[in-house]
Amino acid sequence: MPEGVDVLVHEMGLRDGLQSIETIFSTEGKMDWIRAEAESGVPQLQVGSFVPPKLLPQMADSADVVRQAIQIPDLVVSALAPNLKGAKNAMEAGAHQVGVVMSISEAHNMSNVRRSTKESLEDFKRIVEYRDSNPAYNDVCLSGGMATAFGCTISGPVSLPDVMRIAEQLLKAGANRLNVADTVGYANPGQVRDLFTELYRTVGRDVAIGAHFHDTRGLGLANAFAALETGVRELDASLGGLGGCPYAPGASGNIVTEDLVFMLESMGMRTGVDLKALLKARKIMECQLKGEPTHGTFAKAGLPLGFAYASAA
Ligand code: ZN
Repeated sequence: MPEGVDVLVHEMGLRDGLQSIETIFSTEGKMDWIRAEAESGVPQLQVGSFVPPKLLPQMADSADVVRQAIQIPDLVVSALAPNLKGAKNAMEAGAHQVGVVMSISEAHNMSNVRRSTKESLEDFKRIVEYRDSNPAYNDVCLSGGMATAFGCTISGPVSLPDVMRIAEQLLKAGANRLNVADTVGYANPGQVRDLFTELYRTVGRDVAIGAHFHDTRGLGLANAFAALETGVRELDASLGGLGGCPYAPGASGNIVTEDLVFMLESMGMRTGVDLKALLKARKIMECQLKGEPTHGTFAKAGLPLGFAYASAA
């Protein structure tokens, strides 16, 4: 956790957002966004995904973006990787954190990364071994991404014991942290509370656990609040809620970064983020979009009279 920060806000827009819309940002355009958002104080940004460019042309310049982003002082740069090859490329580019994705749902894992969850776990072990055998990469944080933890568009409900089993196996394989994702926006706050309560009971309080919510059904911030109540202190979000799906008009992406920061600061939880500067970053991002909608209400309403940022207790 960065100094003076109670909750870590991890920006997803450059990966989860951009991969879900049609506009392809130039590398320069991405860097303008990254610099502006880092300037606002957001401590960690996921800037790309190391998948084959044929699958996701929006992410083709990820290595370049990582290389430039790590030059920004104090910014933690993360990237996503679906497998060993992607993780190697992410580390070579200099990513500080590599999120390795697997789905709790067997069917979703097969469709997303074309292998069983057992094979994904074995691959995770190989990634840990690769990191550990290369002194230059020993400080890289390997995050175990647990997609579809709250439900799956292919197989429906996901069982809590399955989530716990994969969490334990990822940690056993060497994951430095866990990231629990409501990939398809099915979660509700009660479910979130139950899952994280059980997860902390299973893996203990010393494990860093992040949460990743989508606002698909309007429950994004409520879910974030429920996660906070259980003790989660790392939350993924997307500037302007960028994301959704090119085939589903109006579908929204991750929870909105600026709305989340406003909620946290109002509740007395320090994020290190300046909201006015964050809105500037949002404008820089928005002016590069070609018709895709952005979301969030803080940008429209602004700060309430008498608002004060959270301060150290
Ligand atoms: Zn997502």
